[in-house]
Amino acid sequence: MNDCSGGKCGLTDEQRRILHEKGTERAFTSPLNDEKRQGVFHCAGCGEKLFSSEHKYDSGSGWPSFYAPINDDALGEDTDYDIGYARTEIHCAKCGGHMGHVFPDGPKPTGLRYCINGAALNFAPKEN
Ligand code: FE
Repeated sequence: MNDCSGGKCGLTDEQRRILHEKGTERAFTSPLNDEKRQGVFHCAGCGEKLFSSEHKYDSGSGWPSFYAPINDDALGEDTDYDIGYARTEIHCAKCGGHMGHVFPDGPKPTGLRYCINGAALNFAPKEN
């Protein structure tokens, strides 16, 4: 985990709250929820590539949603009980920054819904 004391990491308070304290942004507040361009979504903490527009879909949840990560090594998983029942927490495998949760109600082909805080990501549109 990055040492953010003194704001050295360059993250906003909201990004720190999410990435480092497993916070959640309010639904429908991230501009990335409506992002429909092609490109790559990077960890806002360390810059690692975590998600691709190829796997993004509109879940209606108000959070950027993907049915798969960009590759099998990008994310780590944990179980949390923060709201009273078991959920699968997901984080950047490289820096440990919290991303969101994954649920088994996504579309084909994986059936998974990666429900992600947009503030935990930086989007890099594909250059044409
Ligand atoms: Fe990271």
